[in-house]
Amino acid sequence: MEDLSYVGRRIRHYRAAAGLTLAELGEAVGVVPSQLSLIENGRREPRLALLSAIAARLGVTVADLIEATPPSGRDALEVELERAQRSTAYRELGLPELRPSRSLPDDALTALVGLHRELVRRAREAIATPEEARRANTSQRLRMQERDDYLPEIEEIGEADVAAAGHMSGALTHRTVGVMAERLGLEIVHVDDLPHSARCVLDLANGRIFIPPASIPGGHGLRSLALQAMAHVRLGHETPADYEDFLRQRQEASYYAAACLMPREAIVGFLKRARDERDIAIEDLRDAFGVTHEAAALRFSNLATSQLGMRLHVLRVDGDGSVVKAYENDGLPLPVDVTGATEGQLVCRHWSARRAFARRARTTEYYQYTDTPAGTFFESTQTGSTGAEEFSITLGVPFDESKWFRGRESRERAVSRCPDTSCCRRPDAAVASRWDGKAWASPRVHAHIFSPLPQGTYPGVDDRELYAFLEAHVGDSTA
Ligand SMILES: [Zn+2]
Repeated sequence: MEDLSYVGRRIRHYRAAAGLTLAELGEAVGVVPSQLSLIENGRREPRLALLSAIAARLGVTVADLIEATPPSGRDALEVELERAQRSTAYRELGLPELRPSRSLPDDALTALVGLHRELVRRAREAIATPEEARRANTSQRLRMQERDDYLPEIEEIGEADVAAAGHMSGALTHRTVGVMAERLGLEIVHVDDLPHSARCVLDLANGRIFIPPASIPGGHGLRSLALQAMAHVRLGHETPADYEDFLRQRQEASYYAAACLMPREAIVGFLKRARDERDIAIEDLRDAFGVTHEAAALRFSNLATSQLGMRLHVLRVDGDGSVVKAYENDGLPLPVDVTGATEGQLVCRHWSARRAFARRARTTEYYQYTDTPAGTFFESTQTGSTGAEEFSITLGVPFDESKWFRGRESRERAVSRCPDTSCCRRPDAAVASRWDGKAWASPRVHAHIFSPLPQGTYPGVDDRELYAFLEAHVGDSTA
Protein backbone atom coordinates (compact mmCIF):
# COMPACT_ATOMS: atom_id res chain seq x y z
CA MET A 1 0.00 0.00 0.00
CA GLU A 2 2.73 2.45 0.96
CA ASP A 3 4.90 1.44 -2.00
CA LEU A 4 1.93 1.91 -4.29
CA SER A 5 1.61 5.56 -3.38
CA TYR A 6 5.29 6.03 -4.20
CA VAL A 7 4.96 4.28 -7.61
CA GLY A 8 2.21 6.72 -8.58
CA ARG A 9 4.19 9.66 -7.25
CA ARG A 10 7.31 8.56 -9.07
CA ILE A 11 5.39 8.24 -12.36
CA ARG A 12 3.93 11.73 -11.89
CA HIS A 13 7.36 13.10 -10.97
CA TYR A 14 9.07 11.69 -14.12
CA ARG A 15 6.07 12.62 -16.33
CA ALA A 16 6.28 16.24 -15.11
CA ALA A 17 10.05 16.20 -15.64
CA ALA A 18 9.48 14.96 -19.21
CA GLY A 19 6.94 17.77 -19.77
CA LEU A 20 4.08 15.40 -20.65
CA THR A 21 0.37 15.78 -19.79
CA LEU A 22 -1.72 12.87 -18.52
CA ALA A 23 -3.38 12.67 -21.95
CA GLU A 24 -0.07 12.59 -23.83
CA LEU A 25 1.47 9.87 -21.66
CA GLY A 26 -1.83 7.92 -21.67
CA GLU A 27 -1.99 7.94 -25.43
CA ALA A 28 1.65 6.82 -25.70
CA VAL A 29 1.13 3.78 -23.42
CA GLY A 30 -2.44 2.94 -24.42
CA VAL A 31 -4.53 3.89 -21.34
CA VAL A 32 -7.11 6.63 -20.86
CA PRO A 33 -5.96 9.70 -18.82
CA SER A 34 -8.43 8.98 -15.96
CA GLN A 35 -6.90 5.51 -15.56
CA LEU A 36 -3.40 6.99 -15.43
CA SER A 37 -4.57 9.57 -12.88
CA LEU A 38 -5.85 6.80 -10.59
CA ILE A 39 -2.44 5.12 -10.81
CA GLU A 40 -0.59 8.36 -10.07
CA ASN A 41 -2.82 8.94 -7.02
CA GLY A 42 -2.02 5.51 -5.69
CA ARG A 43 -5.59 4.28 -6.12
CA ARG A 44 -4.82 1.65 -8.71
CA GLU A 45 -1.90 -0.71 -9.12
CA PRO A 46 -0.27 -0.71 -12.57
CA ARG A 47 0.51 -4.08 -14.23
CA LEU A 48 4.14 -4.76 -15.00
CA ALA A 49 3.59 -4.48 -18.79
CA LEU A 50 2.14 -1.00 -18.33
CA LEU A 51 4.98 0.00 -15.97
CA SER A 52 7.51 -1.09 -18.62
CA ALA A 53 5.74 0.95 -21.29
CA ILE A 54 5.59 4.04 -19.05
CA ALA A 55 9.28 3.67 -18.08
CA ALA A 56 10.25 3.35 -21.73
CA ARG A 57 8.25 6.45 -22.72
CA LEU A 58 9.67 8.51 -19.82
CA GLY A 59 13.26 7.38 -20.45
CA VAL A 60 13.73 5.73 -17.04
CA THR A 61 13.93 2.12 -15.84
CA VAL A 62 11.11 0.16 -14.16
CA ALA A 63 13.36 0.09 -11.09
CA ASP A 64 13.31 3.90 -11.02
CA LEU A 65 9.52 3.79 -10.87
CA ILE A 66 9.08 1.13 -8.18
CA GLU A 67 11.78 2.36 -5.82
CA ALA A 68 10.22 2.67 -2.35
CA THR A 69 11.27 6.24 -1.67
CA PRO A 70 9.48 9.49 -2.41
CA PRO A 71 10.79 11.19 -5.56
CA SER A 72 11.15 14.59 -3.82
CA GLY A 73 11.08 16.26 -0.41
CA ARG A 74 7.66 17.69 -1.19
CA ASP A 75 6.37 14.20 -2.01
CA ALA A 76 7.78 12.88 1.28
CA LEU A 77 5.84 15.55 3.20
CA GLU A 78 2.64 14.89 1.26
CA VAL A 79 2.84 11.16 1.99
CA GLU A 80 3.56 11.86 5.66
CA LEU A 81 0.54 14.17 5.88
CA GLU A 82 -1.73 11.58 4.26
CA ARG A 83 -0.55 8.89 6.65
CA ALA A 84 -0.88 11.16 9.69
CA GLN A 85 -4.46 12.01 8.74
CA ARG A 86 -5.30 8.33 8.52
CA SER A 87 -4.16 7.75 12.14
CA THR A 88 -6.70 7.07 14.88
CA ALA A 89 -5.32 9.96 16.93
CA TYR A 90 -6.15 12.42 14.14
CA ARG A 91 -9.53 10.91 13.33
CA GLU A 92 -10.53 11.21 16.98
CA LEU A 93 -10.18 14.98 16.65
CA GLY A 94 -13.06 15.08 14.17
CA LEU A 95 -11.19 17.45 11.87
CA PRO A 96 -11.47 17.34 8.06
CA GLU A 97 -8.96 15.41 5.98
CA LEU A 98 -6.88 17.79 3.91
CA ARG A 99 -5.73 16.66 0.47
CA PRO A 100 -2.18 17.90 -0.07
CA SER A 101 -2.88 19.26 -3.55
CA ARG A 102 -0.35 21.27 -5.57
CA SER A 103 -2.11 24.45 -4.44
CA LEU A 104 -1.08 23.84 -0.82
CA PRO A 105 2.06 25.97 -0.25
CA ASP A 106 5.25 24.21 0.89
CA ASP A 107 5.44 26.12 4.19
CA ALA A 108 1.80 25.30 5.04
CA LEU A 109 2.50 21.63 4.33
CA THR A 110 5.67 21.75 6.45
CA ALA A 111 3.74 23.36 9.33
CA LEU A 112 0.96 20.76 9.18
CA VAL A 113 3.38 17.85 9.13
CA GLY A 114 5.32 19.43 12.01
CA LEU A 115 2.12 19.66 14.08
CA HIS A 116 1.28 16.03 13.35
CA ARG A 117 4.75 14.95 14.44
CA GLU A 118 4.34 16.86 17.71
CA LEU A 119 0.93 15.25 18.26
CA VAL A 120 2.52 11.81 17.99
CA ARG A 121 5.42 12.78 20.25
CA ARG A 122 3.05 14.03 22.94
CA ALA A 123 0.93 10.90 22.73
CA ARG A 124 4.08 8.81 23.25
CA GLU A 125 5.10 10.95 26.18
CA ALA A 126 1.70 10.42 27.79
CA ILE A 127 2.15 6.67 27.44
CA ALA A 128 5.59 6.88 29.03
CA THR A 129 4.27 8.81 32.03
CA PRO A 130 3.37 5.86 34.28
CA GLU A 131 7.03 4.94 34.25
CA GLU A 132 7.91 8.52 35.13
CA ALA A 133 5.36 8.34 37.92
CA ARG A 134 6.98 5.17 39.23
CA ARG A 135 10.37 6.88 39.23
CA ALA A 136 8.86 9.82 41.11
CA ASN A 137 7.38 7.43 43.70
CA THR A 138 10.78 5.84 44.16
CA SER A 139 12.72 9.06 44.49
CA GLN A 140 10.20 10.24 47.08
CA ARG A 141 10.60 7.02 49.09
CA LEU A 142 14.39 7.36 49.01
CA ARG A 143 14.22 11.02 49.96
CA MET A 144 12.09 10.16 53.01
CA GLN A 145 14.45 7.31 53.86
CA GLU A 146 17.35 9.80 53.94
CA ARG A 147 15.37 11.88 56.43
CA ASP A 148 14.33 8.84 58.48
CA ASP A 149 10.71 9.60 57.49
CA TYR A 150 10.82 12.71 59.67
CA LEU A 151 9.91 16.28 58.63
CA PRO A 152 10.51 18.46 61.74
CA GLU A 153 9.51 21.70 59.98
CA ILE A 154 6.01 20.33 59.37
CA GLU A 155 5.85 18.85 62.90
CA GLU A 156 6.30 22.36 64.25
CA ILE A 157 3.63 23.95 62.08
CA GLY A 158 1.16 21.18 63.02
CA GLU A 159 1.94 21.45 66.72
CA ALA A 160 1.49 25.23 66.68
CA ASP A 161 -1.81 25.07 64.75
CA VAL A 162 -3.30 22.46 67.06
CA ALA A 163 -2.29 24.43 70.15
CA ALA A 164 -3.65 27.69 68.68
CA ALA A 165 -7.04 25.99 68.16
CA GLY A 166 -7.13 25.23 71.90
CA HIS A 167 -6.43 21.51 71.75
CA MET A 168 -4.91 20.19 74.96
CA SER A 169 -4.52 16.41 74.76
CA GLY A 170 -6.03 13.18 73.50
CA ALA A 171 -7.68 12.63 70.12
CA LEU A 172 -8.25 15.71 68.00
CA THR A 173 -12.01 16.25 67.68
CA HIS A 174 -13.98 17.22 64.58
CA ARG A 175 -14.84 20.41 66.42
CA THR A 176 -11.16 21.35 66.83
CA VAL A 177 -10.49 20.58 63.15
CA GLY A 178 -13.38 22.93 62.33
CA VAL A 179 -11.83 25.66 64.48
CA MET A 180 -8.48 25.14 62.74
CA ALA A 181 -10.23 25.57 59.36
CA GLU A 182 -11.96 28.75 60.55
CA ARG A 183 -8.61 30.20 61.57
CA LEU A 184 -7.54 29.75 57.93
CA GLY A 185 -10.76 31.41 56.71
CA LEU A 186 -12.17 28.07 55.56
CA GLU A 187 -15.42 26.27 56.20
CA ILE A 188 -15.78 22.47 56.01
CA VAL A 189 -18.74 21.37 53.84
CA HIS A 190 -19.82 17.72 53.58
CA VAL A 191 -21.15 16.72 50.15
CA ASP A 192 -21.94 13.37 48.56
CA ASP A 193 -21.42 14.39 44.93
CA LEU A 194 -17.65 14.90 44.80
CA PRO A 195 -16.06 14.07 41.43
CA HIS A 196 -15.25 10.36 41.37
CA SER A 197 -11.58 11.12 40.87
CA ALA A 198 -11.28 13.57 43.79
CA ARG A 199 -11.17 12.76 47.50
CA CYS A 200 -11.74 16.38 48.48
CA VAL A 201 -11.98 19.75 46.79
CA LEU A 202 -10.74 23.08 48.06
CA ASP A 203 -12.78 26.08 46.84
CA LEU A 204 -10.40 28.97 47.39
CA ALA A 205 -12.77 31.54 45.89
CA ASN A 206 -15.45 30.91 48.52
CA GLY A 207 -13.21 29.57 51.29
CA ARG A 208 -14.68 26.09 51.52
CA ILE A 209 -13.37 22.55 51.87
CA PHE A 210 -15.66 19.94 50.35
CA ILE A 211 -15.27 16.46 51.81
CA PRO A 212 -17.49 13.36 51.72
CA PRO A 213 -20.18 12.86 54.38
CA ALA A 214 -18.63 9.64 55.67
CA SER A 215 -15.12 8.27 55.83
CA ILE A 216 -13.87 5.82 53.23
CA PRO A 217 -13.56 2.32 54.78
CA GLY A 218 -9.91 1.53 55.33
CA GLY A 219 -9.06 4.92 53.90
CA HIS A 220 -8.59 8.35 55.36
CA GLY A 221 -10.75 9.58 58.17
CA LEU A 222 -12.71 12.76 57.67
CA ARG A 223 -10.57 14.79 60.04
CA SER A 224 -7.51 13.70 58.13
CA LEU A 225 -9.07 14.64 54.78
CA ALA A 226 -10.01 18.10 56.02
CA LEU A 227 -6.55 18.61 57.52
CA GLN A 228 -4.89 17.52 54.29
CA ALA A 229 -6.94 20.05 52.34
CA MET A 230 -6.02 22.74 54.87
CA ALA A 231 -2.37 21.74 54.60
CA HIS A 232 -2.23 22.89 50.98
CA VAL A 233 -3.21 26.39 52.15
CA ARG A 234 -1.11 26.29 55.33
CA LEU A 235 2.04 25.05 53.55
CA GLY A 236 1.60 27.44 50.61
CA HIS A 237 1.25 24.79 47.91
CA GLU A 238 0.85 26.00 44.32
CA THR A 239 -0.61 24.04 41.38
CA PRO A 240 1.89 21.16 41.05
CA ALA A 241 4.43 21.66 38.26
CA ASP A 242 4.77 17.94 37.58
CA TYR A 243 3.98 14.56 39.05
CA GLU A 244 6.96 14.59 41.40
CA ASP A 245 5.84 17.96 42.74
CA PHE A 246 2.30 16.57 43.17
CA LEU A 247 3.64 13.61 45.15
CA ARG A 248 5.76 15.85 47.36
CA GLN A 249 2.75 18.06 48.12
CA ARG A 250 0.62 15.06 48.91
CA GLN A 251 3.31 13.69 51.20
CA GLU A 252 3.59 17.01 53.01
CA ALA A 253 -0.19 17.35 53.31
CA SER A 254 -0.63 13.90 54.82
CA TYR A 255 2.36 14.50 57.07
CA TYR A 256 0.73 17.72 58.30
CA ALA A 257 -2.58 15.94 58.92
CA ALA A 258 -0.81 13.18 60.86
CA ALA A 259 1.20 15.71 62.87
CA CYS A 260 -2.05 17.47 63.87
CA LEU A 261 -4.03 14.31 64.63
CA MET A 262 -1.15 12.77 66.57
CA PRO A 263 0.99 15.64 67.88
CA ARG A 264 4.68 14.77 68.25
CA GLU A 265 5.01 15.41 71.94
CA ALA A 266 1.96 13.32 72.81
CA ILE A 267 3.02 10.42 70.59
CA VAL A 268 6.60 10.36 71.78
CA GLY A 269 5.43 10.40 75.42
CA PHE A 270 2.97 7.59 74.69
CA LEU A 271 5.60 5.50 72.92
CA LYS A 272 8.24 6.01 75.60
CA ARG A 273 5.83 4.81 78.28
CA ALA A 274 4.95 1.77 76.15
CA ARG A 275 8.63 1.07 75.64
CA ASP A 276 9.32 1.23 79.38
CA GLU A 277 6.60 -1.38 79.81
CA ARG A 278 7.98 -3.36 76.86
CA ASP A 279 4.55 -3.20 75.31
CA ILE A 280 4.74 -1.08 72.16
CA ALA A 281 1.77 -1.90 69.89
CA ILE A 282 0.42 -0.04 66.88
CA GLU A 283 -3.11 -1.14 67.84
CA ASP A 284 -2.81 0.86 71.07
CA LEU A 285 -1.53 3.92 69.26
CA ARG A 286 -4.45 3.58 66.82
CA ASP A 287 -7.03 3.33 69.61
CA ALA A 288 -5.54 6.06 71.78
CA PHE A 289 -5.60 8.63 68.97
CA GLY A 290 -8.70 7.44 67.11
CA VAL A 291 -7.00 6.96 63.76
CA THR A 292 -6.75 4.07 61.29
CA HIS A 293 -4.23 1.30 61.86
CA GLU A 294 -2.35 2.48 58.79
CA ALA A 295 -2.22 6.09 60.00
CA ALA A 296 -0.90 4.89 63.38
CA ALA A 297 1.81 2.73 61.76
CA LEU A 298 2.89 5.56 59.45
CA ARG A 299 2.99 7.98 62.36
CA PHE A 300 5.13 5.55 64.34
CA SER A 301 7.45 5.48 61.35
CA ASN A 302 7.70 9.32 61.31
CA LEU A 303 8.98 9.43 64.88
CA ALA A 304 10.56 6.10 65.80
CA THR A 305 13.99 6.67 64.27
CA SER A 306 14.53 10.32 65.16
CA GLN A 307 12.89 10.17 68.62
CA LEU A 308 13.47 6.60 69.80
CA GLY A 309 16.53 5.63 67.74
CA MET A 310 14.67 2.68 66.23
CA ARG A 311 14.94 1.54 62.60
CA LEU A 312 11.89 -0.05 61.02
CA HIS A 313 9.76 -0.90 58.00
CA VAL A 314 6.09 -0.21 57.28
CA LEU A 315 4.13 -1.96 54.54
CA ARG A 316 0.64 -1.73 53.16
CA VAL A 317 0.08 -4.85 51.07
CA ASP A 318 -3.01 -5.89 49.09
CA GLY A 319 -4.71 -9.27 49.43
CA ASP A 320 -2.86 -10.48 46.33
CA GLY A 321 0.47 -9.73 48.03
CA SER A 322 1.37 -6.59 46.08
CA VAL A 323 2.85 -3.49 47.68
CA VAL A 324 0.59 -0.46 47.90
CA LYS A 325 2.94 1.52 50.11
CA ALA A 326 6.30 0.66 51.60
CA TYR A 327 8.97 2.38 53.65
CA GLU A 328 12.08 0.95 55.26
CA ASN A 329 15.26 2.21 56.84
CA ASP A 330 16.15 -1.12 58.47
CA GLY A 331 17.49 -2.85 55.34
CA LEU A 332 14.46 -5.08 54.65
CA PRO A 333 14.93 -6.21 51.00
CA LEU A 334 11.78 -4.69 49.43
CA PRO A 335 10.77 -6.13 46.05
CA VAL A 336 11.53 -3.56 43.31
CA ASP A 337 11.14 -3.38 39.53
CA VAL A 338 13.76 -2.21 37.01
CA THR A 339 13.00 1.43 37.76
CA GLY A 340 13.53 0.83 41.49
CA ALA A 341 9.79 1.18 42.22
CA THR A 342 8.21 -1.09 44.81
CA GLU A 343 4.51 -0.22 44.28
CA GLY A 344 2.68 -3.17 42.74
CA GLN A 345 5.56 -5.60 43.34
CA LEU A 346 4.82 -8.83 45.20
CA VAL A 347 6.29 -9.26 48.66
CA CYS A 348 7.60 -12.63 49.80
CA ARG A 349 4.90 -15.16 50.66
CA HIS A 350 6.69 -15.85 53.94
CA TRP A 351 6.60 -12.29 55.22
CA SER A 352 4.14 -11.45 57.96
CA ALA A 353 2.36 -9.06 55.57
CA ARG A 354 1.10 -12.07 53.56
CA ARG A 355 1.00 -14.85 56.14
CA ALA A 356 -1.41 -12.76 58.21
CA PHE A 357 -4.08 -13.24 55.50
CA ALA A 358 -4.17 -16.97 56.26
CA ARG A 359 -5.28 -16.41 59.85
CA ARG A 360 -8.82 -17.07 61.03
CA ALA A 361 -8.86 -14.60 63.92
CA ARG A 362 -8.08 -11.20 62.51
CA THR A 363 -9.32 -8.83 65.15
CA THR A 364 -5.89 -8.60 66.75
CA GLU A 365 -2.40 -8.15 65.37
CA TYR A 366 -0.46 -11.12 64.04
CA TYR A 367 3.17 -11.41 65.18
CA GLN A 368 6.06 -13.29 63.62
CA TYR A 369 9.83 -13.40 63.29
CA THR A 370 11.07 -13.38 59.71
CA ASP A 371 14.58 -14.54 58.78
CA THR A 372 15.74 -12.77 55.61
CA PRO A 373 19.10 -12.49 53.81
CA ALA A 374 19.32 -9.05 55.50
CA GLY A 375 18.83 -10.45 59.01
CA THR A 376 15.91 -11.34 61.28
CA PHE A 377 12.98 -8.99 61.74
CA PHE A 378 10.10 -8.94 64.19
CA GLU A 379 6.86 -8.01 62.44
CA SER A 380 3.32 -7.23 63.56
CA THR A 381 0.53 -7.21 61.01
CA GLN A 382 -3.09 -6.12 61.12
CA THR A 383 -5.39 -7.12 58.27
CA GLY A 384 -8.43 -5.18 57.10
CA SER A 385 -10.63 -4.73 54.06
CA THR A 386 -12.02 -1.96 51.88
CA GLY A 387 -15.21 -3.52 50.55
CA ALA A 388 -14.09 -6.51 48.50
CA GLU A 389 -10.36 -5.81 48.75
CA GLU A 390 -8.24 -7.15 51.57
CA PHE A 391 -5.12 -5.41 52.77
CA SER A 392 -2.58 -5.72 55.56
CA ILE A 393 -0.60 -3.14 57.49
CA THR A 394 2.75 -4.32 58.81
CA LEU A 395 5.24 -2.73 61.15
CA GLY A 396 8.60 -4.49 61.35
CA VAL A 397 11.79 -3.87 63.31
CA PRO A 398 15.19 -5.57 63.44
CA PHE A 399 15.30 -8.55 65.87
CA ASP A 400 17.20 -6.57 68.53
CA GLU A 401 14.30 -4.13 68.88
CA SER A 402 11.68 -6.86 69.33
CA LYS A 403 12.15 -6.70 73.10
CA TRP A 404 10.15 -3.46 73.28
CA PHE A 405 7.12 -4.84 71.48
CA ARG A 406 3.89 -6.58 72.31
CA GLY A 407 3.81 -10.03 70.71
CA ARG A 408 7.56 -10.66 71.05
CA GLU A 409 6.82 -14.07 72.64
CA SER A 410 5.35 -15.23 69.32
CA ARG A 411 6.46 -18.71 68.22
CA GLU A 412 5.69 -17.91 64.59
CA ARG A 413 8.87 -17.92 62.56
CA ALA A 414 9.37 -17.91 58.79
CA VAL A 415 12.37 -18.08 56.51
CA SER A 416 12.42 -15.80 53.47
CA ARG A 417 15.14 -16.09 50.82
CA CYS A 418 13.59 -13.50 48.49
CA PRO A 419 14.72 -11.89 46.17
CA ASP A 420 16.11 -15.38 45.34
CA THR A 421 13.30 -16.60 43.07
CA SER A 422 13.58 -20.16 44.37
CA CYS A 423 12.20 -18.82 47.68
CA CYS A 424 8.57 -18.48 46.69
CA ARG A 425 8.41 -17.34 43.07
CA ARG A 426 9.25 -20.59 41.30
CA PRO A 427 7.24 -23.79 41.81
CA ASP A 428 8.69 -27.08 42.93
CA ALA A 429 10.52 -28.66 39.94
CA ALA A 430 8.61 -31.97 40.11
CA VAL A 431 5.23 -30.21 40.21
CA ALA A 432 6.26 -27.87 37.41
CA SER A 433 7.28 -30.73 35.11
CA ARG A 434 4.06 -32.61 35.90
CA TRP A 435 1.93 -29.64 34.77
CA ASP A 436 4.13 -28.28 32.00
CA GLY A 437 1.93 -27.77 28.93
CA LYS A 438 -1.11 -29.24 30.71
CA ALA A 439 -2.45 -26.10 32.38
CA TRP A 440 -3.51 -22.69 31.16
CA ALA A 441 -4.18 -19.59 33.22
CA SER A 442 -5.40 -16.24 32.00
CA PRO A 443 -3.58 -13.44 33.83
CA ARG A 444 -5.35 -10.62 35.60
CA VAL A 445 -3.97 -7.24 34.54
CA HIS A 446 -2.40 -5.50 37.47
CA ALA A 447 -4.24 -2.36 38.46
CA HIS A 448 -1.01 -0.85 39.81
CA ILE A 449 0.38 -0.66 36.29
CA PHE A 450 -2.17 2.03 35.59
CA SER A 451 -2.78 3.53 39.00
CA PRO A 452 -0.45 6.54 39.20
CA LEU A 453 -1.70 8.03 35.94
CA PRO A 454 -1.22 11.77 35.95
CA GLN A 455 -3.72 13.72 33.87
CA GLY A 456 -5.16 17.21 33.96
CA THR A 457 -4.17 20.03 36.28
CA TYR A 458 -4.19 17.79 39.35
CA PRO A 459 -2.66 14.42 38.49
CA GLY A 460 -5.35 11.78 38.38
CA VAL A 461 -8.27 14.18 38.78
CA ASP A 462 -10.66 14.59 35.87
CA ASP A 463 -10.73 18.35 35.19
CA ARG A 464 -14.17 18.25 33.57
CA GLU A 465 -15.72 16.54 36.58
CA LEU A 466 -13.89 18.86 38.95
CA TYR A 467 -15.06 22.07 37.28
CA ALA A 468 -18.60 20.74 36.86
CA PHE A 469 -18.62 20.02 40.59
CA LEU A 470 -17.36 23.49 41.48
CA GLU A 471 -19.88 25.17 39.18
CA ALA A 472 -22.67 23.18 40.83
CA HIS A 473 -21.58 24.41 44.25
CA VAL A 474 -21.06 28.10 43.53
CA GLY A 475 -23.38 30.06 45.79
CA ASP A 476 -24.62 26.84 47.35
CA SER A 477 -24.87 27.12 51.13
CA THR A 478 -25.04 23.41 51.97
CA ALA A 479 -23.47 23.99 55.36
ZN1 LIG B 1 10.00 -15.40 49.19
